Amino acid sequence: MTLVAGVLAVQGNVSEHVRATERAADSSSDPIEIREIRSAGTLPDCDLLLAPGGESTAIARLVHEGGIAPEIRAHVTAGKPVLATCAGMILLGRGNDDRVETLDLLDVVVERNAFGRQRDSFETALEVAGLDEPFPAVFIRAPAVTDSGDCEVLARVDGRPVAVRQGPIVATAFHPELTDDRRVHRLALFESTRVTQ
Ligand code: GLN
Repeated sequence: MTLVAGVLAVQGNVSEHVRATERAADSSSDPIEIREIRSAGTLPDCDLLLAPGGESTAIARLVHEGGIAPEIRAHVTAGKPVLATCAGMILLGRGNDDRVETLDLLDVVVERNAFGRQRDSFETALEVAGLDEPFPAVFIRAPAVTDSGDCEVLARVDGRPVAVRQGPIVATAFHPELTDDRRVHRLALFESTRVTQ
């Protein structure tokens, strides 16, 4: 059966996630079809959701204005897999910043741009729970989790959670779509051994 993956495409790193998901799907026995979500009406037909990085203030505003927010809520409530990266993690989390109207679907509080100016962008070999070898994690003006609530913490940098999982959602502060390594996309979207809470 063809799996349909929707990439939230109102703003941000859309094409990179499309390519990463296509390549990650090579390991799946099902063919994949990828749709870009620009307005309401696309996500309800999708099995998988990617919420890319970008500018969380803009993404959140467009998701609400476009009527996509309730569709994301329904997707998560139905237990369908989600990979949220960077601004996507901020979008799904609990709100603590007046400029971003978050969705409260993932039990995390995040600090935006948490790694400071001098480290606006960096790459590190990151130990991620569920992956055998370290993952080449690219951080760009990345958030960090300040309260991981009921989430399982999958990875930390300097003691701060940067990858979490809760129910059908895997969220990373870094950008797995910017490397050739597809293991995080596979872990989030195509592996049925997900721990549900
Ligand atoms: N700093 C951005 C924000 O707060 C997120 C950066 C990213 O997604 N690469 O929205």
